Amino acid sequence: MREPLIAGNWKMNTNLTEARNLVRAMLGELDGIAHVEKVVCPPFISLPAIKELIKGTSIELGAQNMYFEDKGAYTGEISPLMLVDLCDFVIIGHSERRQHFTETDEIVNKKVKKALDVGLRPVLCVGESLEDNEAGRTDKVITGQVQAALAGVSSTSRLAIAYEPIWAIGTGRAATGKQASATISLIRSTVVSLWDNDTAQAVRILYGGSVTSSNIAEFIAEPEIDGALVGGASLKANEFVSIVNQTAAIKSTQ
Ligand code: PEP
Repeated sequence: MREPLIAGNWKMNTNLTEARNLVRAMLGELDGIAHVEKVVCPPFISLPAIKELIKGTSIELGAQNMYFEDKGAYTGEISPLMLVDLCDFVIIGHSERRQHFTETDEIVNKKVKKALDVGLRPVLCVGESLEDNEAGRTDKVITGQVQAALAGVSSTSRLAIAYEPIWAIGTGRAATGKQASATISLIRSTVVSLWDNDTAQAVRILYGGSVTSSNIAEFIAEPEIDGALVGGASLKANEFVSIVNQTAAIKSTQ
């Protein structure tokens, strides 16, 4: 049985004060919810402060990105070695990084390898564009992204994958539970073919794209969907708490 995982991607939102306030607003309730792994991913500059705030609770911390080198002349970048003391998780290959910062599959692959090497737990994001979706290329694109990102990566259940169709991110137009479940099954089969069945069964595969407290139940009801990567709704304490609460309730009955 895979423990469900709900991760909040705050993106480039919240200054230090706002980040602290957001965590304070949900800390008590979130901490009390068992059998769901709860992760918040604030901007880099807030990681040390949030690490202090969540100390001793069941809430975990993630970064939204990292570079694939340890150190050196890479102005503006953040090394995995800087993160490893601060957080457990790191989002890799988010579609916004692929779109706005020209992250290629090759870069994503390097980042996944490096994150695992230093002991971080990557949440690898994959997702097709609207154009690919409408042209019936979803399966091909997703399989290709997973294969490229995991090329040469040793099998491990420390990886999580988030299926995030680009057309669903921040648009209010979520996939359906059935659509997401079908693509997530395909992702798991791809992981089986790259690694082995036992490891693939242990890897958590999440859905992301306009998840809210109103639609989370539809995704979580699908046994193949192990949780969610939540953007906009993770910036509202009551929304995020409700998403985690519903996940705990529904997964406990499966
Ligand atoms: C995301 O940022 O990964 C995401 C899924 O965003 P949203 O929930 O706002 O669509």
